[in-house]
Amino acid sequence: MHFTSTRTPTRVSIDTALSAGLAPDGGLYVPVDIPASALAQAQPTLAQTAQALLAPYFDASNLRDALPAICADAFDFPAPLRCLSSQNTWLLELFHGPTAAFKDYAARFLAGCLARLREQASPPVTILVATSGDTGAAVGAAFHRRPGFDVVILYPEGRVSPRQAHGLECFGDNVRTFRVAGTFDDCQRLVKEALGDETLRARRALGSANSISLGRLLPQMAYYAHAALEFHAARGQALNFIVPTGNLGNALACWLARRMGLPIGDIVLASNANDVLPRYFAGADYQPHATVATLANAMDVGAPSNFERLRWWHRDDAELRADLRACAVDDAAIRDTIRDAPQRHGIVPCPHTAVGLRVLERLRDAGDDRPWAVVATAHPAKFDSIVEPLVGHAVSPPPALAAWLTRPARSEPLAADYGALRAQLE
Ligand SMILES: *Cc1c(COP(=O)(O)O)cnc(C)c1O
Repeated sequence: MHFTSTRTPTRVSIDTALSAGLAPDGGLYVPVDIPASALAQAQPTLAQTAQALLAPYFDASNLRDALPAICADAFDFPAPLRCLSSQNTWLLELFHGPTAAFKDYAARFLAGCLARLREQASPPVTILVATSGDTGAAVGAAFHRRPGFDVVILYPEGRVSPRQAHGLECFGDNVRTFRVAGTFDDCQRLVKEALGDETLRARRALGSANSISLGRLLPQMAYYAHAALEFHAARGQALNFIVPTGNLGNALACWLARRMGLPIGDIVLASNANDVLPRYFAGADYQPHATVATLANAMDVGAPSNFERLRWWHRDDAELRADLRACAVDDAAIRDTIRDAPQRHGIVPCPHTAVGLRVLERLRDAGDDRPWAVVATAHPAKFDSIVEPLVGHAVSPPPALAAWLTRPARSEPLAADYGALRAQLE
Protein backbone atom coordinates (compact mmCIF):
# COMPACT_ATOMS: atom_id res chain seq x y z
CA MET A 1 0.00 0.00 0.00
CA HIS A 2 1.26 3.44 -0.94
CA PHE A 3 0.22 6.90 0.13
CA THR A 4 -0.04 10.23 -1.64
CA SER A 5 -0.63 13.86 -0.76
CA THR A 6 -4.08 15.38 -1.32
CA ARG A 7 -2.39 18.23 -3.24
CA THR A 8 0.27 16.78 -5.57
CA PRO A 9 0.44 13.14 -6.63
CA THR A 10 3.38 11.49 -4.81
CA ARG A 11 4.19 7.97 -3.71
CA VAL A 12 5.39 7.51 -0.16
CA SER A 13 5.36 4.66 2.33
CA ILE A 14 3.19 4.76 5.42
CA ASP A 15 6.37 5.11 7.49
CA THR A 16 7.23 8.36 5.73
CA ALA A 17 3.66 9.60 6.08
CA LEU A 18 3.61 8.77 9.80
CA SER A 19 6.94 10.44 10.52
CA ALA A 20 6.18 13.56 8.48
CA GLY A 21 2.61 14.20 9.69
CA LEU A 22 1.87 16.77 6.98
CA ALA A 23 3.02 16.34 3.33
CA PRO A 24 5.78 18.75 2.19
CA ASP A 25 3.32 20.49 -0.18
CA GLY A 26 1.03 21.28 2.77
CA GLY A 27 -1.44 18.54 1.80
CA LEU A 28 -2.62 15.59 3.88
CA TYR A 29 -1.50 12.04 3.30
CA VAL A 30 -4.11 9.57 2.06
CA PRO A 31 -3.88 5.89 1.05
CA VAL A 32 -4.05 5.63 -2.76
CA ASP A 33 -6.67 2.89 -2.47
CA ILE A 34 -9.07 2.04 0.27
CA PRO A 35 -8.75 -1.73 0.66
CA ALA A 36 -11.80 -3.94 1.16
CA SER A 37 -11.87 -5.34 4.66
CA ALA A 38 -11.57 -9.10 4.94
CA LEU A 39 -13.21 -9.00 8.37
CA ALA A 40 -16.50 -10.89 8.39
CA GLN A 41 -16.90 -10.70 12.13
CA ALA A 42 -15.52 -8.81 15.12
CA GLN A 43 -12.38 -10.35 16.56
CA PRO A 44 -12.40 -11.41 20.22
CA THR A 45 -10.81 -8.11 21.29
CA LEU A 46 -10.87 -4.55 20.03
CA ALA A 47 -7.08 -4.72 19.62
CA GLN A 48 -7.38 -7.75 17.34
CA THR A 49 -10.07 -6.08 15.24
CA ALA A 50 -7.79 -3.04 14.95
CA GLN A 51 -4.88 -5.19 13.85
CA ALA A 52 -6.87 -7.07 11.21
CA LEU A 53 -8.36 -3.86 9.84
CA LEU A 54 -5.07 -1.93 9.71
CA ALA A 55 -2.86 -4.73 8.38
CA PRO A 56 -3.34 -3.87 4.66
CA TYR A 57 -2.20 -0.29 5.29
CA PHE A 58 1.00 -1.58 6.91
CA ASP A 59 1.82 -4.35 4.41
CA ALA A 60 4.94 -2.51 3.16
CA SER A 61 5.85 -0.91 6.50
CA ASN A 62 8.83 -1.53 8.74
CA LEU A 63 6.17 -1.65 11.46
CA ARG A 64 4.36 -4.61 9.92
CA ASP A 65 5.61 -7.15 12.46
CA ALA A 66 5.12 -4.72 15.35
CA LEU A 67 1.52 -3.91 14.41
CA PRO A 68 -0.04 -6.51 16.77
CA ALA A 69 1.95 -5.12 19.72
CA ILE A 70 1.18 -1.50 18.78
CA CYS A 71 -2.55 -2.33 18.63
CA ALA A 72 -2.44 -4.32 21.87
CA ASP A 73 -0.91 -1.29 23.65
CA ALA A 74 -3.19 1.33 22.11
CA PHE A 75 -6.46 -0.61 22.36
CA ASP A 76 -6.11 -2.06 25.83
CA PHE A 77 -9.30 -0.50 27.16
CA PRO A 78 -12.81 -1.27 25.89
CA ALA A 79 -15.15 0.69 23.60
CA PRO A 80 -18.51 -0.69 24.75
CA LEU A 81 -21.69 -0.26 22.74
CA ARG A 82 -24.28 0.44 25.39
CA CYS A 83 -28.04 0.23 24.82
CA LEU A 84 -29.85 3.34 26.07
CA SER A 85 -33.29 3.41 27.58
CA SER A 86 -34.89 4.63 24.35
CA GLN A 87 -35.36 1.70 22.01
CA ASN A 88 -32.86 1.09 19.24
CA THR A 89 -30.54 3.79 20.53
CA TRP A 90 -26.96 2.99 21.46
CA LEU A 91 -24.02 4.80 22.90
CA LEU A 92 -20.54 3.96 21.65
CA GLU A 93 -18.49 4.80 24.74
CA LEU A 94 -15.01 5.91 23.75
CA PHE A 95 -14.03 7.49 27.06
CA HIS A 96 -12.55 4.59 29.02
CA GLY A 97 -8.91 5.52 28.36
CA PRO A 98 -6.42 7.35 30.58
CA THR A 99 -7.61 10.88 29.71
CA ALA A 100 -11.30 9.98 29.35
CA ALA A 101 -11.72 11.01 25.70
CA PHE A 102 -11.63 9.04 22.42
CA LYS A 103 -8.35 10.66 21.42
CA ASP A 104 -6.51 8.27 23.77
CA TYR A 105 -6.79 5.41 21.26
CA ALA A 106 -5.21 7.21 18.34
CA ALA A 107 -2.65 9.18 20.37
CA ARG A 108 -1.38 5.94 21.88
CA PHE A 109 -1.33 4.25 18.48
CA LEU A 110 0.66 7.11 16.93
CA ALA A 111 3.09 7.17 19.87
CA GLY A 112 3.64 3.41 19.46
CA CYS A 113 4.40 3.89 15.75
CA LEU A 114 6.70 6.88 16.17
CA ALA A 115 8.64 5.27 19.03
CA ARG A 116 9.39 2.25 16.84
CA LEU A 117 10.21 4.28 13.73
CA ARG A 118 12.71 6.45 15.54
CA GLU A 119 16.35 5.52 14.96
CA GLN A 120 18.00 4.36 18.18
CA ALA A 121 20.83 6.91 18.30
CA SER A 122 18.97 9.92 16.89
CA PRO A 123 18.48 13.05 19.04
CA PRO A 124 15.24 13.39 21.00
CA VAL A 125 12.17 14.53 19.08
CA THR A 126 10.00 17.32 20.45
CA ILE A 127 6.33 16.70 19.70
CA LEU A 128 4.50 20.01 19.42
CA VAL A 129 0.79 19.91 20.06
CA ALA A 130 -1.81 22.65 19.93
CA THR A 131 -4.96 21.68 21.78
CA SER A 132 -8.44 22.98 22.40
CA GLY A 133 -8.58 20.69 25.43
CA ASP A 134 -8.48 16.95 24.84
CA THR A 135 -5.75 16.34 22.26
CA GLY A 136 -3.01 17.75 24.47
CA ALA A 137 -3.87 15.48 27.37
CA ALA A 138 -4.14 12.37 25.17
CA VAL A 139 -0.81 13.12 23.46
CA GLY A 140 0.85 14.06 26.76
CA ALA A 141 -0.30 10.78 28.32
CA ALA A 142 0.72 8.74 25.26
CA PHE A 143 4.30 10.13 25.21
CA HIS A 144 4.77 10.67 28.96
CA ARG A 145 8.15 9.19 30.03
CA ARG A 146 8.71 7.65 26.57
CA PRO A 147 12.48 7.68 25.96
CA GLY A 148 13.50 9.79 22.95
CA PHE A 149 10.53 12.16 23.08
CA ASP A 150 9.68 15.50 24.65
CA VAL A 151 6.22 17.01 24.38
CA VAL A 152 5.31 20.69 24.28
CA ILE A 153 1.58 21.35 24.79
CA LEU A 154 0.04 24.73 23.92
CA TYR A 155 -3.49 25.41 25.10
CA PRO A 156 -5.58 28.61 25.13
CA GLU A 157 -5.72 29.94 28.67
CA GLY A 158 -9.23 30.27 30.11
CA ARG A 159 -10.85 28.40 27.22
CA VAL A 160 -10.75 24.86 28.58
CA SER A 161 -12.64 23.47 31.57
CA PRO A 162 -10.77 23.50 34.91
CA ARG A 163 -10.49 19.71 34.87
CA GLN A 164 -9.29 19.75 31.27
CA ALA A 165 -6.64 22.31 32.30
CA HIS A 166 -5.54 20.07 35.15
CA GLY A 167 -5.32 17.14 32.74
CA LEU A 168 -3.04 19.18 30.47
CA GLU A 169 -0.78 20.35 33.29
CA CYS A 170 -0.31 17.23 35.39
CA PHE A 171 2.46 15.43 33.51
CA GLY A 172 5.87 16.92 34.29
CA ASP A 173 8.98 14.88 33.30
CA ASN A 174 9.33 15.10 29.50
CA VAL A 175 6.07 17.07 28.99
CA ARG A 176 5.94 20.88 29.20
CA THR A 177 2.65 22.74 29.13
CA PHE A 178 2.16 26.36 28.08
CA ARG A 179 -1.05 28.30 28.65
CA VAL A 180 -1.21 30.70 25.73
CA ALA A 181 -2.75 34.16 26.02
CA GLY A 182 -4.88 33.63 22.92
CA THR A 183 -7.27 31.28 21.13
CA PHE A 184 -6.88 27.72 19.89
CA ASP A 185 -6.28 29.15 16.41
CA ASP A 186 -3.32 31.10 17.87
CA CYS A 187 -1.93 27.89 19.37
CA GLN A 188 -2.23 26.13 16.02
CA ARG A 189 -0.55 28.99 14.23
CA LEU A 190 2.40 28.93 16.65
CA VAL A 191 2.86 25.18 16.12
CA LYS A 192 2.68 25.58 12.34
CA GLU A 193 5.24 28.38 12.42
CA ALA A 194 7.63 26.30 14.50
CA LEU A 195 7.21 23.26 12.23
CA GLY A 196 7.93 25.46 9.21
CA ASP A 197 10.98 27.17 10.79
CA GLU A 198 13.93 25.55 9.02
CA THR A 199 16.59 27.21 11.16
CA LEU A 200 14.93 25.99 14.34
CA ARG A 201 14.50 22.50 12.90
CA ALA A 202 18.19 22.35 12.03
CA ARG A 203 18.88 22.57 15.76
CA ARG A 204 16.02 20.63 17.23
CA ALA A 205 14.08 17.66 15.85
CA LEU A 206 10.37 18.54 15.83
CA GLY A 207 7.33 16.38 15.28
CA SER A 208 3.59 16.85 15.40
CA ALA A 209 0.74 14.74 16.66
CA ASN A 210 -2.26 16.72 15.52
CA SER A 211 -5.30 15.00 14.12
CA ILE A 212 -4.20 15.44 10.51
CA SER A 213 -1.62 12.68 11.04
CA LEU A 214 -2.52 9.39 9.36
CA GLY A 215 -1.33 7.70 12.54
CA ARG A 216 -4.28 9.32 14.30
CA LEU A 217 -6.85 8.93 11.53
CA LEU A 218 -6.51 5.25 10.62
CA PRO A 219 -6.67 3.59 14.06
CA GLN A 220 -9.94 5.36 14.80
CA MET A 221 -11.64 3.00 12.33
CA ALA A 222 -11.18 0.13 14.77
CA TYR A 223 -13.95 0.93 17.23
CA TYR A 224 -16.49 1.60 14.47
CA ALA A 225 -15.60 -1.71 12.83
CA HIS A 226 -15.76 -3.62 16.09
CA ALA A 227 -19.12 -2.15 17.15
CA ALA A 228 -20.69 -2.48 13.69
CA LEU A 229 -19.58 -6.10 13.28
CA GLU A 230 -20.85 -7.08 16.73
CA PHE A 231 -24.14 -5.31 16.09
CA HIS A 232 -24.50 -6.97 12.70
CA ALA A 233 -23.81 -10.42 14.16
CA ALA A 234 -26.47 -9.88 16.84
CA ARG A 235 -29.15 -8.11 14.81
CA GLY A 236 -28.41 -8.71 11.15
CA GLN A 237 -28.59 -4.97 10.49
CA ALA A 238 -26.17 -2.17 9.67
CA LEU A 239 -25.62 0.27 12.53
CA ASN A 240 -26.03 4.01 11.81
CA PHE A 241 -23.72 6.47 13.54
CA ILE A 242 -23.96 10.04 14.80
CA VAL A 243 -20.46 11.41 15.33
CA PRO A 244 -19.81 14.65 17.28
CA THR A 245 -17.45 16.47 14.92
CA GLY A 246 -14.87 19.24 15.04
CA ASN A 247 -11.81 18.68 12.90
CA LEU A 248 -13.58 15.76 11.18
CA GLY A 249 -11.00 13.15 12.17
CA ASN A 250 -13.19 10.76 14.12
CA ALA A 251 -16.10 10.96 11.68
CA LEU A 252 -13.81 10.51 8.68
CA ALA A 253 -12.57 7.27 10.25
CA CYS A 254 -16.18 6.10 10.48
CA TRP A 255 -16.65 6.90 6.81
CA LEU A 256 -13.41 5.08 5.90
CA ALA A 257 -14.53 2.00 7.82
CA ARG A 258 -17.78 2.03 5.84
CA ARG A 259 -15.80 2.43 2.61
CA MET A 260 -13.79 -0.67 3.57
CA GLY A 261 -17.06 -2.56 3.53
CA LEU A 262 -18.03 -2.73 7.19
CA PRO A 263 -21.75 -2.90 8.03
CA ILE A 264 -22.17 0.81 8.76
CA GLY A 265 -25.31 2.55 7.53
CA ASP A 266 -25.85 6.29 7.57
CA ILE A 267 -23.32 8.64 9.16
CA VAL A 268 -24.41 12.03 10.50
CA LEU A 269 -21.84 14.65 11.49
CA ALA A 270 -22.99 16.49 14.61
CA SER A 271 -21.46 19.98 14.86
CA ASN A 272 -21.80 22.66 17.48
CA ALA A 273 -22.35 26.32 16.53
CA ASN A 274 -19.26 26.05 14.32
CA ASP A 275 -21.50 25.04 11.46
CA VAL A 276 -19.26 25.11 8.41
CA LEU A 277 -20.02 21.44 7.65
CA PRO A 278 -23.80 21.60 8.14
CA ARG A 279 -23.88 24.60 5.82
CA TYR A 280 -21.81 22.81 3.21
CA PHE A 281 -23.91 19.65 3.33
CA ALA A 282 -27.05 21.76 3.03
CA GLY A 283 -25.73 23.03 -0.30
CA ALA A 284 -23.69 26.16 0.48
CA ASP A 285 -20.08 26.59 -0.62
CA TYR A 286 -17.42 25.32 1.76
CA GLN A 287 -16.75 28.48 3.73
CA PRO A 288 -14.35 28.17 6.72
CA HIS A 289 -14.90 30.81 9.39
CA ALA A 290 -13.26 32.07 12.59
CA THR A 291 -13.85 29.73 15.51
CA VAL A 292 -16.84 30.36 17.79
CA ALA A 293 -16.39 29.36 21.46
CA THR A 294 -19.05 26.85 22.62
CA LEU A 295 -19.77 24.50 25.52
CA ALA A 296 -18.43 21.62 23.41
CA ASN A 297 -14.99 23.20 23.18
CA ALA A 298 -13.11 20.28 21.63
CA MET A 299 -15.33 20.77 18.57
CA ASP A 300 -14.69 24.51 18.24
CA VAL A 301 -13.18 24.33 14.78
CA GLY A 302 -13.99 26.84 12.04
CA ALA A 303 -11.89 25.16 9.34
CA PRO A 304 -12.00 21.34 9.72
CA SER A 305 -8.65 20.13 8.35
CA ASN A 306 -9.81 16.68 7.35
CA PHE A 307 -12.36 18.08 4.92
CA GLU A 308 -9.50 18.15 2.42
CA ARG A 309 -9.24 14.36 2.63
CA LEU A 310 -12.97 13.86 2.32
CA ARG A 311 -13.00 15.99 -0.82
CA TRP A 312 -10.06 14.13 -2.30
CA TRP A 313 -11.98 10.87 -2.03
CA HIS A 314 -15.03 12.20 -3.87
CA ARG A 315 -15.45 13.19 -7.51
CA ASP A 316 -17.45 16.32 -6.78
CA ASP A 317 -19.62 18.10 -4.24
CA ALA A 318 -22.77 16.25 -5.31
CA GLU A 319 -21.17 12.86 -4.68
CA LEU A 320 -19.85 14.00 -1.32
CA ARG A 321 -23.15 15.51 -0.22
CA ALA A 322 -24.91 12.27 -1.06
CA ASP A 323 -22.52 10.33 1.19
CA LEU A 324 -22.91 12.08 4.56
CA ARG A 325 -25.21 14.40 6.44
CA ALA A 326 -24.46 17.11 9.00
CA CYS A 327 -26.46 18.96 11.67
CA ALA A 328 -25.63 21.92 13.91
CA VAL A 329 -26.58 22.21 17.59
CA ASP A 330 -26.25 25.48 19.52
CA ASP A 331 -25.31 25.98 23.18
CA ALA A 332 -28.91 26.40 24.34
CA ALA A 333 -29.79 23.01 22.86
CA ILE A 334 -26.64 21.46 24.38
CA ARG A 335 -27.76 22.67 27.82
CA ASP A 336 -31.30 21.35 27.36
CA THR A 337 -30.01 18.01 26.18
CA ILE A 338 -27.66 17.57 29.15
CA ARG A 339 -30.42 18.57 31.57
CA ASP A 340 -32.95 16.12 30.08
CA ALA A 341 -30.59 13.23 29.30
CA PRO A 342 -30.81 11.40 32.67
CA GLN A 343 -34.61 11.28 32.28
CA ARG A 344 -34.74 10.74 28.54
CA HIS A 345 -31.77 8.43 27.93
CA GLY A 346 -30.67 7.25 31.36
CA ILE A 347 -27.21 8.83 31.12
CA VAL A 348 -25.26 12.01 31.87
CA PRO A 349 -23.52 13.09 28.64
CA CYS A 350 -20.49 15.36 28.19
CA PRO A 351 -21.29 18.50 26.14
CA HIS A 352 -19.85 16.91 22.94
CA THR A 353 -21.87 13.75 23.36
CA ALA A 354 -24.90 15.97 24.03
CA VAL A 355 -24.48 17.47 20.55
CA GLY A 356 -24.82 13.96 19.14
CA LEU A 357 -27.79 13.13 21.37
CA ARG A 358 -29.61 16.26 20.24
CA VAL A 359 -29.14 15.27 16.61
CA LEU A 360 -30.54 11.84 17.46
CA GLU A 361 -33.58 13.44 19.12
CA ARG A 362 -34.26 15.41 15.94
CA LEU A 363 -34.10 12.23 13.86
CA ARG A 364 -36.47 10.44 16.25
CA ASP A 365 -38.86 13.42 16.22
CA ALA A 366 -38.85 13.19 12.42
CA GLY A 367 -39.93 9.53 12.66
CA ASP A 368 -36.59 7.75 12.11
CA ASP A 369 -36.78 4.53 14.14
CA ARG A 370 -33.68 2.79 12.77
CA PRO A 371 -30.82 1.67 15.07
CA TRP A 372 -28.52 4.60 15.77
CA ALA A 373 -25.34 4.73 17.80
CA VAL A 374 -24.35 8.10 19.22
CA VAL A 375 -20.61 8.35 19.74
CA ALA A 376 -19.76 9.35 23.34
CA THR A 377 -16.48 11.16 22.79
CA ALA A 378 -15.60 12.12 26.38
CA HIS A 379 -16.59 11.32 29.95
CA PRO A 380 -18.94 13.91 31.51
CA ALA A 381 -16.73 14.24 34.62
CA LYS A 382 -14.13 16.02 32.48
CA PHE A 383 -16.67 18.82 32.02
CA ASP A 384 -18.02 18.86 35.56
CA SER A 385 -18.29 22.66 35.67
CA ILE A 386 -20.80 22.57 32.79
CA VAL A 387 -22.57 19.29 33.44
CA GLU A 388 -23.04 19.20 37.21
CA PRO A 389 -25.14 22.39 37.57
CA LEU A 390 -27.42 21.15 34.77
CA VAL A 391 -28.07 17.66 36.15
CA GLY A 392 -28.01 18.83 39.77
CA HIS A 393 -25.55 16.31 41.19
CA ALA A 394 -21.84 15.50 41.19
CA VAL A 395 -20.41 13.31 38.43
CA SER A 396 -17.46 11.32 39.70
CA PRO A 397 -14.43 10.87 37.46
CA PRO A 398 -13.52 7.37 36.25
CA PRO A 399 -10.50 5.84 38.03
CA ALA A 400 -7.85 6.72 35.42
CA LEU A 401 -8.95 10.35 35.27
CA ALA A 402 -9.19 10.53 39.07
CA ALA A 403 -5.59 9.34 39.29
CA TRP A 404 -4.37 12.09 36.94
CA LEU A 405 -6.32 14.68 38.91
CA THR A 406 -4.40 13.87 42.10
CA ARG A 407 -1.10 14.79 40.42
CA PRO A 408 0.14 18.37 40.90
CA ALA A 409 -0.57 20.69 37.95
CA ARG A 410 2.01 23.04 36.46
CA SER A 411 2.10 25.24 33.36
CA GLU A 412 4.01 28.24 32.08
CA PRO A 413 2.44 31.36 30.55
CA LEU A 414 3.20 32.13 26.89
CA ALA A 415 2.33 35.13 24.72
CA ALA A 416 0.49 34.30 21.48
CA ASP A 417 3.61 35.29 19.61
CA TYR A 418 5.96 33.03 17.67
CA GLY A 419 9.08 34.78 19.03
CA ALA A 420 8.04 33.75 22.54
CA LEU A 421 7.58 30.08 21.59
CA ARG A 422 10.81 30.04 19.65
CA ALA A 423 12.74 31.42 22.63
CA GLN A 424 11.35 28.54 24.73
CA LEU A 425 12.22 25.90 22.15
CA GLU A 426 15.78 27.19 21.83
C1 LIG B 1 -11.66 16.11 19.57
C2 LIG B 1 -13.00 15.90 20.12
C3 LIG B 1 -14.14 15.91 19.28
C4 LIG B 1 -14.05 16.20 17.80
O1 LIG B 1 -13.36 15.18 17.10
P1 LIG B 1 -12.79 15.47 15.63
O2 LIG B 1 -12.03 14.25 15.28
O3 LIG B 1 -11.92 16.69 15.75
O4 LIG B 1 -13.94 15.73 14.74
C5 LIG B 1 -15.37 15.64 19.84
N1 LIG B 1 -15.50 15.42 21.17
C6 LIG B 1 -14.44 15.40 21.99
C7 LIG B 1 -14.67 15.15 23.45
C8 LIG B 1 -13.16 15.64 21.51
O5 LIG B 1 -12.12 15.63 22.34
